[in-house]
Amino acid sequence: MKLANYIGGKFVAPVSGKYMDNVEPATGSVYGHIPLSEAADIDQAVAAASEAFPAWSNLGLEERSRYLLAIADKIHERLDRLAEAESKDTGKPVTLARTVDIPRASANFRFFATAILHEETEAHQTGNRALNFTLRQPRGVAGCISPWNLPLYLFTWKIAPALATGNTVVGKPSEVTPATAFMLAEICEEVGLPPGVLNIVHGRGAEAGAALVAHPKVPVISFTGGTQTGAAIGSEAAKQFKKVSLELGGKNPTLVFSDADLDRVIPDIVRSAFANQGQICLCGSRILVEASTFDAFRDAFVKATQNLRSGDPSDASTQQGALVSQEHLEKVRGYIALAKEEGGSILCGGNTPEGLPDRVKNGYFLEPTVVSGLDASCRVMQEEIFGPVVTLTPFHSEEEALAIANDVPYGLASSVWTRDLDRAHRVAAKIQSGIVWVNCWMLRDLRTPFGGTKASGVGREGGREALRFFTEPKNVCIQMNPES
Ligand code: NAD
Repeated sequence: MKLANYIGGKFVAPVSGKYMDNVEPATGSVYGHIPLSEAADIDQAVAAASEAFPAWSNLGLEERSRYLLAIADKIHERLDRLAEAESKDTGKPVTLARTVDIPRASANFRFFATAILHEETEAHQTGNRALNFTLRQPRGVAGCISPWNLPLYLFTWKIAPALATGNTVVGKPSEVTPATAFMLAEICEEVGLPPGVLNIVHGRGAEAGAALVAHPKVPVISFTGGTQTGAAIGSEAAKQFKKVSLELGGKNPTLVFSDADLDRVIPDIVRSAFANQGQICLCGSRILVEASTFDAFRDAFVKATQNLRSGDPSDASTQQGALVSQEHLEKVRGYIALAKEEGGSILCGGNTPEGLPDRVKNGYFLEPTVVSGLDASCRVMQEEIFGPVVTLTPFHSEEEALAIANDVPYGLASSVWTRDLDRAHRVAAKIQSGIVWVNCWMLRDLRTPFGGTKASGVGREGGREALRFFTEPKNVCIQMNPES
């Protein structure tokens, strides 16, 4: 299938006429073609978005909300087709796409469609002299750039609040997984979203993405992706004083204390380690376990990991699918080799799973892998791998656990497993991450701020933070009682 850009309400070919292959990770075969857009396509999309901005930003809140709710409903109606497309595009198990990614994409639109109906703004009364209030106005054309791991979910997480607050959007989905963004464009057309309100331009980051970031008529950039890319985008955007939100990589710690009920928590910790083959920015990749329970945890965790079923992602019973690309598989394998060089022991995994069905024999599969015996300062424990590879490390005190947890450049997410409430509060307050889950993982309430600290990002998305990010606050100061 040949995908098209969606600009000004029309499906159009890239100006260059060039396309790149879209590969199915589970089979390694080409099944589609993606527009290779460049600056000229971005120019057209920004022009369409700029033209649509005055009418869209002046539309009544209720009406804007109705469009977004219609999109949410269509995503929901099309759950199966979208989940199949996302599974084929990413290699993730279709069940994961069906139960997490696609429902959450619909929820993003629904949440922001209704949130804008209930927003408040601040007022400050300066004695009896003046009343200040904060007027919040949409910023204009928003650039939204997203990664490949949760393609529709993360794309809509940016687009929905930008549109809800009255901005128009030029979106650039990942060139690795473009299918569901294309289907979103079809949905926008079906619900009659006015032309130019949302434009979707496909292509590589270095060309289409960079042109969007550098475009002088795009004052706001919301980006989710790798830390290195985020640094490049941040410095480019700074030259034009653009507002940026950067949601970047992680090296998330999972802290398991000896009072945790292992039978109960291990299934959740396995999920937090290997969901989507470890390719979720929130996955816990460094598991730190209190020494007194280390052996018991290790044995049970390895056993549960070995029980994960790798297979054809389109089979509803598959728990582990393929990694997203050959290149990414090689990168992750490189880290397994490095773990051995750095003195680690591979407790399980590390190879291509056995017994894969014929259809997926040439896919980019890797067994979920558990490594122990590494020093916390080594590269495997410091760098983001973003695959099905986790490390197990014992600790002897709460202080030591926190020291290891915080001793990485990243600070995205963490989880703490304990039945001691005092400890949960202490650790949650001291851990350096934007999100701390206690006795759970990936539970999300869309009203809460979402994002990382340190090299995991700048700014927060989600809930009110997102509505604020996409609006420019202006203080209006009105004199009161001029006669007195
Ligand atoms: P990536 O940085 O390679 O690409 C992300 C997006 O940026 C893609 O659309 C890409 O085309 C575009 N891009 C690349 N170079 C660009 C440039 N110079 N200018 C503008 N756009 C450019 O990331 P990826 O490999 O797609 O995704 C994996 C990374 O994303 C991991 O590091 C992961 O942790 C991170 N991630 C973070 C979060 C979060 O919420 N913090 C969520 C998901 C993924």
